[in-house]
Amino acid sequence: MKVFKFGGASLESVERIRQVAQIIQSFPDEKLLIVISAMGKTTNELEKVAQNFYLRKREIAAQLLYNVEQHHLSVAEALLGNRQHPLFTQLQQFFTEAEWTLGEKPLRTYDYYYDQLVGLGELLSTAIVSAYFNTAGVPNTWLDVRDVFRTDDNFRDANIDWAYTQKQVTEKVVPLFSNTNIVIAQGFIGSTDQNESVTLGREGSDYSAAVFANMLDAESQTIWKDVEGLKNADPKLFPNTVNIPEISFGEVIEMAYYGAQVIHPKTIKPLQNKQIPLLVKCFLDKDLPGTVIKETADVKQLPPIIVLKRNQVLITITSKDYSFITEEKISDIYEVFHRLKVKINLMQNGAISFSSCIDNNPEKIELLIKTLHTDFKIAYNEGLELLTVRYYHDGLLQELTNHHTVLLEQRSRVTVQRLLKK
Ligand code: ASP
Ligand code: MG
Repeated sequence: MKVFKFGGASLESVERIRQVAQIIQSFPDEKLLIVISAMGKTTNELEKVAQNFYLRKREIAAQLLYNVEQHHLSVAEALLGNRQHPLFTQLQQFFTEAEWTLGEKPLRTYDYYYDQLVGLGELLSTAIVSAYFNTAGVPNTWLDVRDVFRTDDNFRDANIDWAYTQKQVTEKVVPLFSNTNIVIAQGFIGSTDQNESVTLGREGSDYSAAVFANMLDAESQTIWKDVEGLKNADPKLFPNTVNIPEISFGEVIEMAYYGAQVIHPKTIKPLQNKQIPLLVKCFLDKDLPGTVIKETADVKQLPPIIVLKRNQVLITITSKDYSFITEEKISDIYEVFHRLKVKINLMQNGAISFSSCIDNNPEKIELLIKTLHTDFKIAYNEGLELLTVRYYHDGLLQELTNHHTVLLEQRSRVTVQRLLKK
């Protein structure tokens, strides 16, 4: 058994969906659990639907949803040749459910409605791909992952109930493979014990695939991307990147943690825990070697690995009465960050101040200031970039930060982080 994951870019056109079918056909007699995310930029479009709905701009929300519907209907028609196929009834049911949600008064939290609406992208894409594959010589079974992935109700970042989900995988998913070689399931979504839909965090399909790989004891997981494999830096931001043929789980988890948008950070743990290798392959040319991620990589030396996080803010919290920022104070400050779900990307403290670099989210920053302003003076500096370089050398650092002011720096033997202002 292998687990495959195809992301939005591999499904962004009719042509590409046909290509995905060809890739699958090159694995005959293989048992495959295929996790699929929403087509192209659908998730972004659905986020706008959720935002407008919550702002009670019903008509805009309905119009945006209609656009998503029409797009999916036309892709489905192009793949299946007409609109007579039972798929269209299934799609209609999904649309109707979303329209009902739009008809509600938004009395619950934004995150709740977000999850009820945004997961639609995965339901549509998997239904379309599954129906098309069945007509294109890739017989498969479509699975509603919400019947399998049980989570808590931490909407937009739901946590999997491992024991319950494992039981569902064993009882509901494993038996499917006695009748079919291929099961197609949605990434990114799950359900609470109240049957409310949840999402697992943006780009969460990699993680969904890893949960399946873990619970099915898969021999490997492959993430099919539009790039050659894992690179030492984002080629959109840096010239002369190189492909990394082999790398360890530990290294990738660090890269993802520092903000490399390679693989969802939660993906590694379920795979590492069962020693399941993760392959990153290119769907545009499946014969390229790609990258193998496993426990210990045989490669002796990695190239410098460069990660740039943009749109960062430096928040400096200073005690008003000159009291020291003690361990106790830091723990209070951390508690506030934790409660407001603000992730600290870099931190440093002094005698009476605490500085942290976070993603720029104006609403969250306002809340932080509101919560902390009684005891602290708070200053912030926007428009920054956080550069992380692993396996650095001084020449490279110099080259990368030449025209910038360094506001904060942290350095270990392996890793340098610099918070930069242009
Ligand atoms: N479709 C979701 C997103 O765009 C999940 C994923 O792509 O992994 O965030
Ligand atoms: Mg995606």
